[in-house]
Amino acid sequence: MRPDHNGTQRAQFESNKKKIYATQEICGICGKPVDFGFKFPHPLSPCIDHIIPVSKGGHPSDIANMQLAHMCCNRQKSDKLTEKKSFETGNELVSNRLLPHTFDWKNI
Ligand SMILES: [Zn+2]
Repeated sequence: MRPDHNGTQRAQFESNKKKIYATQEICGICGKPVDFGFKFPHPLSPCIDHIIPVSKGGHPSDIANMQLAHMCCNRQKSDKLTEKKSFETGNELVSNRLLPHTFDWKNI
């Protein structure tokens, strides 16, 4: 039974997301400033990246596993991980590609 299926993780995630948005301004992936003037779905809009992807065992809502990122950087990172996984397993590219580029923990 994974704990991230219930609402507690989501509430904690949202709370930590607000904290990160309030205290961080540099993308954890590319190291450039994040402009909070850009709104979703702009590629440079702010989003939360899981430092260790949830699919790799990272915590879905622990602030220690969350960082500020550009949406486009987060997407590229998840694409890389998807490609790597696909390379390792041989056949998971299509199914992973179909997942929405939101937060992995909703799709486990
Ligand atoms: Zn970035």
